[in-house]
Amino acid sequence: MDVILLGPPGVGKGTQGVLLADAMSWQRVVTGDLLRAAKDAGTPLGQQAQQYMSIGELVPDQLIIEMVKEKLAALPAGTGVLFDGFPRTEAQASAFSMMLKAMGRKIDYVIVLEASDEVLTERISGRRSCPSCGSVYNTVLAPPQREGVCDKDGTPLFHRADDTVATVQNRLNVYSTETEPLIAYYEGSRATVHHIKGDQGVDEVQGEVCQALGV
Ligand code: AMP
Repeated sequence: MDVILLGPPGVGKGTQGVLLADAMSWQRVVTGDLLRAAKDAGTPLGQQAQQYMSIGELVPDQLIIEMVKEKLAALPAGTGVLFDGFPRTEAQASAFSMMLKAMGRKIDYVIVLEASDEVLTERISGRRSCPSCGSVYNTVLAPPQREGVCDKDGTPLFHRADDTVATVQNRLNVYSTETEPLIAYYEGSRATVHHIKGDQGVDEVQGEVCQALGV
């Protein structure tokens, strides 16, 4: 099964993606994580992406599409894939449809997670992430057991450079102009689209996601 997690920054795509992928043994394709890894490794893609990421703008479609194509080609056949943070524009979505078709895959479900800008801004400012397993914490709402360290693997957590008040506002604007129209795009496709309130507790959201996917 191939699934897209769609929603604004801070809505809980990462949290739900890790839970679901662990429970179902699915692979996650998280373009933000792939770009941060490329930046840390100092690759040409990472260097190019950095200038857009630091101000909350989207990295050019062509770079993203190539990156996802490479990642998908490297995945073992037959595994379910969760896409988080991709696609983010209509150009990415239509290139993605063609790419999947050529690989004999298709998107089965799109899970749209929703929350108000106030909730998102509050969540993002306290967000801390594990660079190793992708687990997401919040210093106020969902702190790790030991401060600054991932509960699952003990890796020191990091605060993303683009999780600042100034950048977050731009990322929310970019989401509503570039990415939100994809909801209508997928509602007009063969995928089944479910809307879920992301401003509930992690367990409630997870329950609704699993119910929507029938898993
Ligand atoms: P995220 O971790 O999903 O919030 O992404 C962090 C940043 O990476 C975004 O603000 C963009 O600059 C860039 N990015 C991630 N995914 C994409 C994508 N699919 N298209 C364009 N830029 C992306």
